[in-house]
Amino acid sequence: MPAFRRITVDPLSGACGAEIGGVDLSRPLDTETTAEIMAAFQQFLVIVLRNQDLTPDQHKAFSRLFGELTELPQAPTYNGDREMQEVRREADEPVNVVPSFEHFHTDSPFLPQPPKCIVMRALDCPQWGGDTAFSNAYLVYENLSEGLRTLVDGLQIVYSGKDIWRKNESLPPEKRLRLRETHGFSEDQLESIHPAVRVHPETGRRAIFANTAYFKRFVGWTEEESRALLDYLQSQAQQLHYHCRVKWQRDTLIVWDNRFTLHRGVHDFIYERRHLIRTTVMGERPLGPADWKRAG
Ligand code: MN
Repeated sequence: MPAFRRITVDPLSGACGAEIGGVDLSRPLDTETTAEIMAAFQQFLVIVLRNQDLTPDQHKAFSRLFGELTELPQAPTYNGDREMQEVRREADEPVNVVPSFEHFHTDSPFLPQPPKCIVMRALDCPQWGGDTAFSNAYLVYENLSEGLRTLVDGLQIVYSGKDIWRKNESLPPEKRLRLRETHGFSEDQLESIHPAVRVHPETGRRAIFANTAYFKRFVGWTEEESRALLDYLQSQAQQLHYHCRVKWQRDTLIVWDNRFTLHRGVHDFIYERRHLIRTTVMGERPLGPADWKRAG
């Protein structure tokens, strides 16, 4: 574990996640504190900061320490701000109103440069329930057999977000997700081919980058064959020893690595409002094992 002098770091589980203390994000951070937050993010993949009462501008300024902000074509914006999104379920709404509530997933893998991380803050949350759970995708990969690792190392995946609006329209109104209604993305930007194993651009560590959200097939495989392997990989991400779980409170802020973890909201509450607002930081084009070798 790196040494921390400016911040306190309390790991949430043996797999990932840490609660960070001693930081007020409404003020500019000094270089050393910023470096320690980045080190904690790299080490733990999910960092949790409590009691961060921020304006949207302060939220965005902190997010930009991680990289450039990106819009998303599908996620509803917050308060008309195209650089912020919201996850909102009103007290009288069913769980299906928020996307991907049922599976561990990564956000927007269909984009050419899927998000590096999400910076999310709670405005309203249930008194209990409504946690977010995370699964460490490095550990999923590292615990596969050598034979299966070799197989997935060579695979690529077609991810597509092209048909989600049409699919949503075909559902009865009470089953529909809340999606963004208009966006400026081209059709081409809604479909990408990415490696099934993603390599960290600085450390070279490998992780599974395959999950059911927006998944179409492995390149060169039928959809049926693809589904069989994907189901197995997805089942591995469910293992409790890869997880951490965060309980939200008002003004809890979480930054999670969307490249090397999967996440899901736990919708085990009813009759209460849950309202989370977020920015999305653009990631690099995903590197696979072959790209990493070529880069030397
Ligand atoms: Mn999500």
